[in-house]
Amino acid sequence: MNLITPYYLIHESKLLKNLKILKHVRDISGAKSMLALKCFSTWCVFNLMKKYMDGTTGSSLYEARLGHEKFGKEVHAYNVAFSKEDIREIKRYADKIIFNSISQLKMFYKDVRTMNIGLRVNPQISYSHYDLADPARRYSRLGVINRKSLLKVLPLLKGMMFHFNCENDDFENFSSALDTIGHTYGNLFKQLEWVSLGGGLYFTKDGYPLEKFCRKLKGFADKFRVQVYLEPGETAITRSAELVTKVLDVVHNELDIAIVDASTEAHMLDLLIYRTPAKIESSGQGKYEYMIAGRSCLAGDIFGTYRFKSPLKAGSVIKISDSAGYTMVKKNWFNGLQMPSIVVKRLNGTLESVRQFNYKDFLYNLS
Ligand SMILES: *Cc1c(COP(=O)(O)O)cnc(C)c1O
Repeated sequence: MNLITPYYLIHESKLLKNLKILKHVRDISGAKSMLALKCFSTWCVFNLMKKYMDGTTGSSLYEARLGHEKFGKEVHAYNVAFSKEDIREIKRYADKIIFNSISQLKMFYKDVRTMNIGLRVNPQISYSHYDLADPARRYSRLGVINRKSLLKVLPLLKGMMFHFNCENDDFENFSSALDTIGHTYGNLFKQLEWVSLGGGLYFTKDGYPLEKFCRKLKGFADKFRVQVYLEPGETAITRSAELVTKVLDVVHNELDIAIVDASTEAHMLDLLIYRTPAKIESSGQGKYEYMIAGRSCLAGDIFGTYRFKSPLKAGSVIKISDSAGYTMVKKNWFNGLQMPSIVVKRLNGTLESVRQFNYKDFLYNLS
């Protein structure tokens, strides 16, 4: 197939490696995995993912609907704040509804009393390398802190959700955090059916002590007699996709700068937000150094500076790794740049170009 750059390429075989770990954790520990759609909602691979996962967790009405329509199985609907209109519609799509505050729980309880209701709790502990993504940061609006008020609404609840990690690959840290949560809230858990531990646990990473992780989750579930849920986003899809781009021009200003047919701001926004360099597998120790930059007008639209074994020129292909999580969901039409199409390499090896974008998509994105 003659694919035109730029395109996101999702490898089902790479995805499968992560999915098998999720299923293993489920089989050994009993903890169910719900895909966090805010991280990844590229539904062309949901048929594969749903064989290994238990459902989806959404953070908006549209995500709940997408989970229901395209993934099926269980649908958890959390929102930082629901509107009246959301509540009216959400029952059609979700089986569990998770409120972020006691005021929202009280406001909408009578409308959703037939649903399985949960509440987000802020345990005031967290693991995150970035203040921007730290749910326990000062003034955090994410989840209920006051334990006494939790106790009062306990009869309305079937579950609690704790999302307090971000890319946590440190099992010992997670283990002691879980002990703290058990210690602080354990007597409340006995009146609940389920506890969700949220996302941000990097257990598909090479070398993660999976068996210890499973034992810990199972111990927690057995002790408090709850169904444990995990809400993996990044963990589920990490290392499964790349953004394939082509060099359009090479310019020089103190160093050689290769301009590719994609952009950080439009197509890999988190690189800018978190100020992290892109990963480029073909780079390494070579003797030719280039700054790889995007083609938007933003001066700082830079993927990073890398060394290559051979010189780059117009037409050279540059593949940017790890472009699935928090990437495709955030792509935008900044600068009116060509939107990367979406290509899937299926398990049987066939390449399928599932979506191309054209001028009309740009046009109708606004009016
Ligand atoms: C973002 C989010 C997740 C997924 O987090 P990852 O770090 O991608 O695993 C899970 N649960 C909630 C409530 C979230 O907000």
